[in-house]
Amino acid sequence: RSGFVSIVGRPNAGKSTLLNALLGEKIAIVTHKPQTTRNRILGVLELPIRKKAAKDPGRGAAQVVLVDTPGVHKPSSHLDKRMMQEVYDALESRDVVLFIVDATHRLPAESKSDKPFTRDRKAMSAEEDTFALSLLKNVDSPVLLVLNKIDSVPRAELLPLIAHWSEKYNFAEVIPISAKKKDGLEVLLDAVVKRL
Ligand code: GDP
Ligand code: MG
Repeated sequence: RSGFVSIVGRPNAGKSTLLNALLGEKIAIVTHKPQTTRNRILGVLELPIRKKAAKDPGRGAAQVVLVDTPGVHKPSSHLDKRMMQEVYDALESRDVVLFIVDATHRLPAESKSDKPFTRDRKAMSAEEDTFALSLLKNVDSPVLLVLNKIDSVPRAELLPLIAHWSEKYNFAEVIPISAKKKDGLEVLLDAVVKRL
């Protein structure tokens, strides 16, 4: 089995870190500054035959082609537009789309509420939120919601985030991960391979 898997999300969500973690080598550019990934970088991930799959000859090793994309943002210049085109291309005819969200960001709605949070989190603007979702509207392939950076977020704070996104889009699955600590990657890969 093989398939194309796109990783999309806003700048700094951790797309490149995830790609590197999955491929086990530094091929994408990782930075704290947004939009460093100017060009899509392809990585091919060979997955070993899993125990269950080994019994079924039709379900052997999987080959996953990973596609990194520039951060999702509103195009405001020529360069931005070109980068956005890459994002749209990356979303076309993929087997699985990974929509990666920075779980350390507060939701727009939460910014106004007086609900206490354990940490002072950077608020995601409502505009960014809406724009990210607008990209997903034309996607036919299953989209997995990947909540990244869970190493920096208390579990309880993930629930409002999951509720928020699930209300807005019919995600095939919600997978909390830490790309940095390589936590949850097995679950993520299983969810991908299952859909190839
Ligand atoms: P991209 O713009 O989506 O490609 O994001 P990057 O992969 O370049 O990561 C942006 C920043 O977030 C970097 O400083 C990363 O070290 C950090 N980062 C990525 N994944 C994680 C994670 O799982 N946990 C934490 N705490 N930081 C992360
Ligand atoms: Mg990147």
